[in-house]
Amino acid sequence: MSEQQNFDVVVIGAGPAGYHAAIRAAQLGLKTACIDAALGKDGKPALGGTCLRVGCIPSKALLDSSRQFWNMGHLFGDHGISFKDAKMDVGQMVGRKDKIVKQFTGGIAMLFKANKVSPFYGFGTLHKGNVVKVKQHDGSEVELKGTNVVIAAGSDSIELPFAKFDGDTVVDNVGALDFTEVPKRLGVIGAGVIGLELGSVWKRLGAEVTILEAMPEFLATADAEVAKTAAKEFKKQGLDIKLGAKVSKAEVKSKGKSKEVHLTYSDKDGEQSMVVDKLLVAVGRKAASKGLLADGTGVKLDDRGRIEVDEHCHTGVDGVWAVGDCVRGPMLAHKGFEEGIAVAELIAGLPGHVNLDTVPWVIYTEPEIAWVGQTEQQLKEEGTPYKTGSFPFAAIGRAVAMGEPAGFVKVIAHAETDRVLGLHLVGVGVSELVHEGVLTMEFKGSADDLARICHAHPTLSEAIHDAAMAVDKRAIHKAN
Ligand SMILES: Cc1cc2nc3c(=O)[nH]c(=O)nc-3n(C[C@H](O)[C@H](O)[C@H](O)COP(=O)(O)OP(=O)(O)OC[C@H]3O[C@@H](n4cnc5c(N)ncnc54)[C@H](O)[C@@H]3O)c2cc1C
Repeated sequence: MSEQQNFDVVVIGAGPAGYHAAIRAAQLGLKTACIDAALGKDGKPALGGTCLRVGCIPSKALLDSSRQFWNMGHLFGDHGISFKDAKMDVGQMVGRKDKIVKQFTGGIAMLFKANKVSPFYGFGTLHKGNVVKVKQHDGSEVELKGTNVVIAAGSDSIELPFAKFDGDTVVDNVGALDFTEVPKRLGVIGAGVIGLELGSVWKRLGAEVTILEAMPEFLATADAEVAKTAAKEFKKQGLDIKLGAKVSKAEVKSKGKSKEVHLTYSDKDGEQSMVVDKLLVAVGRKAASKGLLADGTGVKLDDRGRIEVDEHCHTGVDGVWAVGDCVRGPMLAHKGFEEGIAVAELIAGLPGHVNLDTVPWVIYTEPEIAWVGQTEQQLKEEGTPYKTGSFPFAAIGRAVAMGEPAGFVKVIAHAETDRVLGLHLVGVGVSELVHEGVLTMEFKGSADDLARICHAHPTLSEAIHDAAMAVDKRAIHKAN
């Protein structure tokens, strides 16, 4: 083992949370190291975590490719565009995705260099006294001591005991981003964000997709009306979503040269079975804490295996912080970004804070689903008086001109103060529009503020303007 190296900040994990913490700490003049164990498809170290390698960015690349293909068959005709024999070259599509991944993971390495963050490639274990021992890919070990250590170890897919990942037939997101051909029948366990997004990709390319969801309600965390509208649109696209369907068995059997998965599930009508060619298990993610903590560090895990932290991401152990998917709060890249920055600033003696109440949520399906703040269901439960205003994209000139009239916007405001408590959207481009709600809520604005702010015409954002006006029954472009 080489001599111990000293740093002001040692970050474990170079995903969204970790690389933000490392770069911001270095910007603030702190001597910073960042350790990451991940390798890319080419077997070389790849920074950027789940998000850049096998999450946010590659999934959006495939969603975009498959959307272009789907639009050719479903939207182009209306515009008068015709074509013959459109084909999808899956290898080319996946290759494009891999190129984008490489560009961005390589980009983090360049940002580390530009900001003088020292990268270490290997697996880090935190020991007592803020010492991190790193087992590097060449087998050697280095020991880093940080005045501060930031744990940003992220998360891993949850595996079902009866449906072990084999990387080919039964897969998680990693496998489903790399199918070499369109599966004829794709089964998905879990109608959450990952199941819906990756299910949509392969559906648009021609797979028969069945999503089995154990919960009786569709997208229970979203606004109920948004979920209902989205479910209707997904059904129109041919996504078969079975609710209250609890899978108990997944047997991989050989069929000639290929394999298929025999699924057993139960629903309100009793035991059912179905056969698929590929199975994507997307039942959630768990904090990655295996091998991370040696005995005696004092860092505690909660009942879900996440690192326990306070509202400032401090673990309670002097100089040890934790951020991103490995701690409480939504498992979203941008939540990790903000926590990473906040912790670096706190370490540097600056104020740092993340408001978990204004973290936006987005599902990048077609139509997109997005929200920030509370839902009507939550407000009812806590007894907060509220009022709402909604506006459909079908009455928005820009959306109709684009051939994308599905969905609506709903503004929820406090019944007495008019303060915006939530913005819920389903429709085209709402992943961008949701930030009007984030800004309004961060500035503690009211529905009236939103209604009085001039929005360009014709834009999709006019739906927010009209929805805000509808809160006080003064929407111009619909009956109130
Ligand atoms: C298919 C899919 C799509 C997604 N799409 C979106 C999206 O559109 N928008 C969004 O906001 N979120 C999305 N997410 C979630 C998002 O990817 C995560 O919330 C985000 O990556 C979490 O960031 P993180 O830095 O906490 O952890 P991670 O990104 O998981 O990074 C942790 C890193 O730490 C490394 N590591 C772990 N332990 C150690 C150790 N002991 N030593 C060294 N290195 C270690 C890991 O190798 C990894 O590189 C998606 C996830 C998936 C799976």
